[in-house]
Amino acid sequence: MHKDIATPIRTQEILKKYGFSFKKSLGQNFLIDPNVLRNIVSHANLTKESAAIEIGPGIGALTEHLARTAGHVVAFEIDQRLLPVLEDTLSPYDNVSVIHSDILKANVLDVMKEKISGYQDVMVVANLPYYVTTPILIKLLMEKLPIRGMVVMMQKEVADRITAVPSTKAYGSLSIAIQYYMKAEIAMTVPKTVFIPQPNVDSAVIRLTRHEKAIVSVKDEDFLFTVSRASFAQRRKTILNNLQSQLPNGKAKKDLILQALETAGIDPTRRGETLSIKEFAGLADELLPNFKD
Ligand code: SAM
Repeated sequence: MHKDIATPIRTQEILKKYGFSFKKSLGQNFLIDPNVLRNIVSHANLTKESAAIEIGPGIGALTEHLARTAGHVVAFEIDQRLLPVLEDTLSPYDNVSVIHSDILKANVLDVMKEKISGYQDVMVVANLPYYVTTPILIKLLMEKLPIRGMVVMMQKEVADRITAVPSTKAYGSLSIAIQYYMKAEIAMTVPKTVFIPQPNVDSAVIRLTRHEKAIVSVKDEDFLFTVSRASFAQRRKTILNNLQSQLPNGKAKKDLILQALETAGIDPTRRGETLSIKEFAGLADELLPNFKD
């Protein structure tokens, strides 16, 4: 076994050797605690028969733990300055492919076909750049990649929103957008002290697991998300008021909204935050014919 990259001393050595300066704008907070890394990887239940997709390998702290556990690792890194560093730190591992790309622009499916087509079991495992956590998750989910799930670190506040249940403060359109695709749970919380530089916010790792069978079916997924976003536009307003002000011509079409709510079995005086995903799905299907632009 090689010396861990993610000890405070070795990390400092690597940063010094390459004269690396952190870019805040790229969400660069590197992990320096091998125990935390082992814990993250253990939540992904990987074997040598699995492949892992990592977003933002940094200097390879998590990547090397993934390389030891999985059959192959594909890591997308946006910062060109890190490529020579990764080449060096990951040289003991022959099962890692580093892709120099912005994950938001990458064709992940093509890369999967090229690099890990032999693997039936694929997990996304990452310490995400916090400034783009939500766009990354939404992209990966909407592209319906053939993955079992994700184990990803993010800002604790975002993790709370993603995993929230109805009638709680954190529940909102993000909870619905993610939980529609995958079961979401907090796997562990992580103190600021295990990063360099330390972030200003608390962190948490969430585990997302693909639903074996869709929990709800809708005629139009995009419209489900339109309706859920509209319903949370002003949290203190009733669902009727929010839909009236947010849907196209909602004010003029109040009767059609009331009719859809009634058919879906939803009291118009309820607030959006009390509705389950199933209820949002039923409502979206009823509203669809009259409100999809
Ligand atoms: N995995 C490393 C660790 O845990 O120490 C680094 C994690 S750091 C929070 C986030 C990493 O994502 C950085 O290496 C950063 O350069 C990279 N990154 C930021 N935006 C990115 C993007 N759009 N696509 C790919 N990588 C990105």
